[in-house]
Amino acid sequence: MIEINHLVKNYGSKFAVDDISFRVGEGEIVGFLGPNGAGKSTTMNILTGYLSSTSGEAKVGGIDILENPDEAKKLIGFLPEQPPLYIDMTVNEYLNFVYEIKGCRLNREKHLEEVRKVTKIEDVKNRLIRNLSKGYRQRVGIAQALVGNPPVIIFDEPTVGLDPKQIIEIRNLIRSLGKNHTVILSTHILSEVQSVCDRIVIINEGKIIADERTENITQVVEDNRRYAVKVAGPQREVAAALRQIPGVLSVEITGERELDSYVYRVEAEKGVDVRKPVFWAMAENNWPITGLETLGMNLEEVFTKIVDRSEGKK
Ligand code: ADP
Ligand code: MG
Repeated sequence: MIEINHLVKNYGSKFAVDDISFRVGEGEIVGFLGPNGAGKSTTMNILTGYLSSTSGEAKVGGIDILENPDEAKKLIGFLPEQPPLYIDMTVNEYLNFVYEIKGCRLNREKHLEEVRKVTKIEDVKNRLIRNLSKGYRQRVGIAQALVGNPPVIIFDEPTVGLDPKQIIEIRNLIRSLGKNHTVILSTHILSEVQSVCDRIVIINEGKIIADERTENITQVVEDNRRYAVKVAGPQREVAAALRQIPGVLSVEITGERELDSYVYRVEAEKGVDVRKPVFWAMAENNWPITGLETLGMNLEEVFTKIVDRSEGKK
């Protein structure tokens, strides 16, 4: 459904996108994951016809976006990083306006009502957009993308700036859209793509460094088990006792302290859950555990692991 071949975009000597290629099949939900400045927005803006490329090709439904922008754009609903909302319009006025500019031919009342229902904005349809919360505005942004019922939907960092509850709602909405659409979602949050997408394309400094099913990436990430353990007890002895536990690879004294507890960073061997042994070892010494937290990997660490792994394969 989407084909990107050897796409390049440079600004002078700076390559925002540096020869990337990937495909997205019909009905897939693909995550485009990368840190800030990786080239996600540039790629999406090219794919949706908002930006021209330096070289390479981007096709949607077999139609080249550069050669045939009007036809290609009809197949795409786009939620840019900054949704193009007119804040002095009511939600309904705005959706009608979008309906017009897209040259939509579906039954207007019925279609817009359906779009409002899917995005759960029916109850704010007569409110001015300027008076809506960020979460509702984002839904109006998504509604705008859905007008015309395009088969492909592209979201650029759809949950940035939302609170945790809104994030869950928007992710659920995107997941449900994935049932009837081909979806690309860009984000710099690993757990976001893990919870929403079938496949993950990882981009870093304008280059694709991985393109795999989500399970594979998750496996790489879970290879490593790290915990922050907070224990009320004598620092050195606690660290020594933690190091004795089978399966513990390393214990780092972080220097963080809360009342009489110190925080230790514990790394465990792959496939070993050391949490119970940690509990028993501390209990034996009468050192209460006052906190135990599993530490996720940050994106950099994930990248390093993925790059290491693919180099190991060679
Ligand atoms: P992302 O969306 O992944 O955060 P972008 O695609 O926005 O990244 O940007 C990729 C790189 O290209 C960044 O280093 C950014 O500074 C640079 N860039 C983007 N737009 C321009 C521009 N108009 N002029 C110069 N550099 C740009
Ligand atoms: Mg961006």
